[in-house]
Amino acid sequence: MLDFHHSWPYERVMSDIYFEECPFCHRSPVMIPIRKKAIEEAFEGIKTHIIMPCCHEKIVIESMDGDYIWTTQALR
Ligand SMILES: [Zn+2]
Repeated sequence: MLDFHHSWPYERVMSDIYFEECPFCHRSPVMIPIRKKAIEEAFEGIKTHIIMPCCHEKIVIESMDGDYIWTTQALR
């Protein structure tokens, strides 16, 4: 079951993924270090993780859609 508290919006500019604001340290905007292949897999529901470049917090992404990442931990 997808829970809104476990989601975070992202922006896609060309092949880059950005968060308008980091859910942890609230820096903005933050470019997310994620491989194209990992993005494709996340869309298929294959877990991947990212380390925020701003504060080094880890986010485990369970899946992704066109607007949001869906994570194992609550971000809101
Ligand atoms: Zn941060």
